[in-house]
Amino acid sequence: MSMPLRLARRLRSAHTWIALGVLAPVGMLVISGLMLMDLRRDAWDKAEQTSRNLLQVIERDIARNVEVIDLTLQAVQDNLRAPGLARLDATMRQLVLFDRAASARDLGVMFVLDENGDVIEDLAASPPRKGNYADRDYFQAHKANRHLGLYVGRPIVSRLTGERMVNFSRRIDKPDGSFGGLVLGSLKLTYFGRLFDQIGLGNEGAINLYLKDGTRITRHPFLEADVGVNIAGSRTFDRFAREGAGTFVETSVRDGVRRLYTFTRVGELPLILNVALSVDEVEASWRAKALVIGTVVLILCGLTVVLSVLFGRELRRRAAMQAELARLSETDALTGLANRRRFEEAYRRACADAGRTGRPLSLLVVDADHFKRYNDRYGHAVGDEVLKGLARGLTACVHRPSDLVCRVGGEEFVLLLPDTDEAGALRVAGEVHAQVRTLAVASVGIGAGAVTVSIGLASGVADAADLLARADAALYEAKAGGRNQTRCAASAVVRSGERQPLRVVGG
Ligand code: GH3
Ligand code: MG
Ligand code: MG
Repeated sequence: MSMPLRLARRLRSAHTWIALGVLAPVGMLVISGLMLMDLRRDAWDKAEQTSRNLLQVIERDIARNVEVIDLTLQAVQDNLRAPGLARLDATMRQLVLFDRAASARDLGVMFVLDENGDVIEDLAASPPRKGNYADRDYFQAHKANRHLGLYVGRPIVSRLTGERMVNFSRRIDKPDGSFGGLVLGSLKLTYFGRLFDQIGLGNEGAINLYLKDGTRITRHPFLEADVGVNIAGSRTFDRFAREGAGTFVETSVRDGVRRLYTFTRVGELPLILNVALSVDEVEASWRAKALVIGTVVLILCGLTVVLSVLFGRELRRRAAMQAELARLSETDALTGLANRRRFEEAYRRACADAGRTGRPLSLLVVDADHFKRYNDRYGHAVGDEVLKGLARGLTACVHRPSDLVCRVGGEEFVLLLPDTDEAGALRVAGEVHAQVRTLAVASVGIGAGAVTVSIGLASGVADAADLLARADAALYEAKAGGRNQTRCAASAVVRSGERQPLRVVGG
């Protein structure tokens, strides 16, 4: 069979449509699933890239500003060692000491403290403003450790201005190496506020700056209560501290929001900076798309399944209808037996089989005797009843699945008996006579034995094709020979048991 023909036949099969109805939605689901996964990956890639870029810009800005302050502190350290400094008057000393001091909008105070924590030099005032800072963490730290270098203090509220700031300090050594105080510069938290304010991170995004001990210096969006909180020991901070720089998703200890954290150390400073985007917001636009695409795909899948099932069911209904029509076209309406058309087809096939296998094929042509008289006497309806009774009787006489009982004419039947020789066929013919003898229509007084049939029998192997003609001839002989008997083609008369006298019913 050619390809297009095979395809056309496939498309007419209900199974094909049901299979398509299942496979097409599965395919659609797989493809849209892959597409949605890809879109989601894109959303995450974009968020990660944005976070990294942002982090880099902020980190550089902070590192540069801290470096400026540190350079100033180092300059003051140098200047303190200048010969003759102590001999200068206060104003000159201030000028010399802070000659390289940066002045910036967010710079807080810049002091030199002596070993007792008292302010001895002040960038902003001469004589210096009074104050003692021996209690501050940076003072204690420098006093205890000579080698701290640049120390970043905890965020504090300035005693002078009331502003929040973070202090950077360097120790001053006396000539003998002992603690001689420190030089201190501070950066107002407003600096971070202004830096972060220009950045949009959604409703739940955040930027955090921590000291490496876990103390939060500032957070954006800014909340007073967040400053100074220590989150050391939390899952997020553990990773910041351990990994130095990177990206991960974690639930915030502060507010329970799941966020994408991108974090880094600020230069070489003991500062950790992170940009955190809410996972919900990262996925928000993807989720909206996924909802629309998912809904449409599911509706399409549902429609495909429903249509395929309906179409498959319709094909099956039509196939069943066709099969029923085919069956009806081969069935006799009155008796339910195979009709002439079916007989001819089966006869042709049986002849071919017999020719091929060499097995004998037998035919019984059975004709009701004087049937016209039943009709004439009892009416056509009773005639029909007798015909149905005959059909039942004939059917009861054959036992093999390959045997076929047909009604080939008004009151004429054929029994097609494949793989049966003459002796076997004669036995069946005897059974037919016996069955017919039992036939009665009590309601109109047709008693058992009233109905008789004549049978023409032919058996053959090689010449199976002309069996029907021979059986017809034998039937003719049986009629001519007095009816109610079986005649074998080219054989002697075979009586149906005890010969019944010909009886004229209703005559
Ligand atoms: P014979 O013994 O020579 O066969 O005589 P006969 O009357 O049976 O044969 P004939 O061919 O002369 O008549 C057959 C009759 O069968 C004619 C018709 O009235 C009757 N017949 C044919 N088909 C039907 C049918 O479907 N229903 C009924 N009730 N009668 C039918
Ligand atoms: Mg007849
Ligand atoms: Mg007839």
